[in-house]
Amino acid sequence: MSIEIPTSHPRYQSLLFREKIIEGLYSKVVTEAGLFAHGRGESLDYFLGEKSEDFSFAAARAAAASLLLAERPVISVNGNAAALVSEELVALAQAVNAKLEVNLFYRAHGREEAIERVLRAAGALEVLGVGAAASATIPEIQHERRRVDPRGILVADVVLVPLEDGDRTEALVNMGKTVLTIDLNPLSRTAQKSHVTVVDNIVRALPHMIQAANELRNQAPEVIKAAAQWNNAHGLARALRFYSERLNFLAQSLEG
Ligand code: ATP
Repeated sequence: MSIEIPTSHPRYQSLLFREKIIEGLYSKVVTEAGLFAHGRGESLDYFLGEKSEDFSFAAARAAAASLLLAERPVISVNGNAAALVSEELVALAQAVNAKLEVNLFYRAHGREEAIERVLRAAGALEVLGVGAAASATIPEIQHERRRVDPRGILVADVVLVPLEDGDRTEALVNMGKTVLTIDLNPLSRTAQKSHVTVVDNIVRALPHMIQAANELRNQAPEVIKAAAQWNNAHGLARALRFYSERLNFLAQSLEG
């Protein structure tokens, strides 16, 4: 780590994850654009109060149930996700029997391999989407951004795309896939186009999804199907209302 953060710091966790992103930049896992994306996430998490709300838990459970019900579930991994939560991504993949695929907006020489190394170090036995393996293409998307693995996202029925870009989310939805995401921004196109959006920080959402998957996976199919029911527009509305009411409350407390 480039700096020592005292554990007594009031925002210790947030600073620790920022350091992980910076370390990811040096190891080619994260791109410069990934730093900006993380900053957007940090500011929205500040507004959320840096803790999960009821709508976050409910969406995490619906997303976990959707992955359990899938025939060919895939968890898409980009640089920021790998830098922040590699072990949790591997644990979730194991809990729901999903494949892990490196899926990048910016494919650069050595970068996919760097992310694969991080996932393997976290316990992944198979990592799709690296190098020539990403030989299939998603329609509607330009250039390198459209490459996917024909054994993974191309044939998946349910895809978890945390911290994803809107164009690619939309293209996956248009391909008929059930798309799940984790995004602190209820207004992003990804949040709006996905079938289930977990409005929460990925560092909290993934452990909740793992816990929900472990609780649900031995339940009767009707129970899992009921848990997968989700109205995403209503979920996003709850999140937006929470942000707005919390900020309003904080403003009123300042006024006394
Ligand atoms: P879109 O293209 O979907 O409209 P965007 O251009 O902001 O949105 P990206 O930068 O590709 O999309 O995606 C990053 C998204 O992830 C942003 O919405 C950002 O707020 C969110 N984000 C960043 N860090 C985290 C995090 N740690 N946990 C959850 N969400 C995060």
